[in-house]
Amino acid sequence: MRTITHFIEGKDYTAEGERHADVFAPNTGKVQAHVTLATVETVNHAVEVAQKAQREWAATNPQRRARVMFEFKRLVEQDKDRLAQLLSSEHGKVLSDAQGDIQRGLEVIEFACGIPHAQKGEYTDSAGPGIDVYSMRQPLGVVAGITPFNFPAMIPMWMFGVAIACGNAFILKPSERDPSVPVELAKLMLQAGLPKGVLNVVHGDKVAVDALLDHQDVKAASFVGSSDIANYVYERGARAGKRIQAMGGAKNHGIVMPDADLDQVVADLVGAAYGSAGERCMALPVVVPVGEGTAEKLIDKLIPAIKAIKVSHSEDESAHYGPVVTAAHKSRVEEYIELAISEGANLIYDGRTSQIPQQTNGYFIGPTLFDNVTADMRSYQEEIFGPVLQIVRATDFNHAVSLASDHQYGNGVAIYTRNGHAAREFAHRVNVGMVGINVPIPVPVAYHTFGGWKRSAFGDTNQHGMEGVKFWTKVKTVTQRWPDGSDTNDNAFVIPTME
Ligand code: NAD
Repeated sequence: MRTITHFIEGKDYTAEGERHADVFAPNTGKVQAHVTLATVETVNHAVEVAQKAQREWAATNPQRRARVMFEFKRLVEQDKDRLAQLLSSEHGKVLSDAQGDIQRGLEVIEFACGIPHAQKGEYTDSAGPGIDVYSMRQPLGVVAGITPFNFPAMIPMWMFGVAIACGNAFILKPSERDPSVPVELAKLMLQAGLPKGVLNVVHGDKVAVDALLDHQDVKAASFVGSSDIANYVYERGARAGKRIQAMGGAKNHGIVMPDADLDQVVADLVGAAYGSAGERCMALPVVVPVGEGTAEKLIDKLIPAIKAIKVSHSEDESAHYGPVVTAAHKSRVEEYIELAISEGANLIYDGRTSQIPQQTNGYFIGPTLFDNVTADMRSYQEEIFGPVLQIVRATDFNHAVSLASDHQYGNGVAIYTRNGHAAREFAHRVNVGMVGINVPIPVPVAYHTFGGWKRSAFGDTNQHGMEGVKFWTKVKTVTQRWPDGSDTNDNAFVIPTME
């Protein structure tokens, strides 16, 4: 059986005493590979290697660093079909969606190609008599990224694309559930001209994460995953003196105003709620029809659209979505369906009983729809992360705004309306980090920035865009004077001011 090893200093790496985890094929339920789980010693080795490589990389001029990114983009594009197939076989998302996962990551690489401009400092000529002030953005040193299973290409590229372009050396700790594509990306970075040791992949679980967070030579860590672990990573990393950004879970609401184009809503909603089996942090698992009669009209159109969804093997090109990632995750989603029933929600479409063509022992769950879900239900308050859509009826606009605003998560939200004033008001008032107006999954483009609010993100800097450049660099400000010998400072004991 294939063993997926670490990738350190430009080569495969394993060490004595390491444990292994199974990597499953969600389509069949079979173990398809083993992945090595790092010990503290392996993490320490990776940090040492990265530290040695970082100094020279930081001294490489930004245009040369950008050229590595240009070449990496070309190589990934050339290899996209193979990477998508590998990604799909470990994650379970359909091939077209796996291609999208890679493409959204590449868009951040495109942003990183502009690093000579994005990392430029600022300059003030003659801030005082004969005094100039300039600032520069310097890399932090060795930094780390800890990523979730649901975007095994995009999220690693969000992080290492910007961090490495800025001159850092990077240690990636990908999800142990779908670890192959991150290693392939690191190999392509090497092929693109990145010096050995600048990008290292260390597989593992809590042991590896803790070792990275505690290591004094790791200066910053970016995390994406579930909220409890994001909170833990934020606190532990901050205690160790690191800069931390930690993105967590989500429960995004789609608000449907009475004037919305319901055909458009339904067409968007089925993809946003059930695409990728609901395993997206920007999915829309809650829909909020507003006002009298809107829910009934929506349900009438939604049921036939749900019936038309095809769930199948992820390589079936006609499938809309494939299996969820593991047997444990399938059970968790089914437990939430049971919980919602016991809480009194009205199950109007049960995905557990739907016929899934060519069903194997894979982790398939059909699309599920609940109506009359209320804010006091635990199945509404918590993240399910599966193909389950919950309808929460709102009496009016203010009720809809408060549902999304008061929820513990605040990643994304969407509003469907033809009324520009209502949309603008909503965007201003809602207590959520990313807003879509007639857009179901408002993942910002790479040169803007990604990040939620409340328990969807810990730390104060977002992913990619200029926020990413700020996260992966520190500012140094220089105040300089080149006296010609004629000026004297008679007031050396007084704090200098610019009167
Ligand atoms: P997860 O929290 O289980 O794992 C994320 C990472 O943390 C993995 O690398 C894992 O190995 C590591 N980890 C797991 N347990 C740990 C522990 N006890 N201590 C330290 N590290 C640990 O998340 P997941 O199931 O892989 O991903 C799904 C979650 O990620 C969902 O909650 C989803 O909403 C969230 N997510 C959020 C965003 C966002 O940007 N907000 C994006 C994608 C996914």
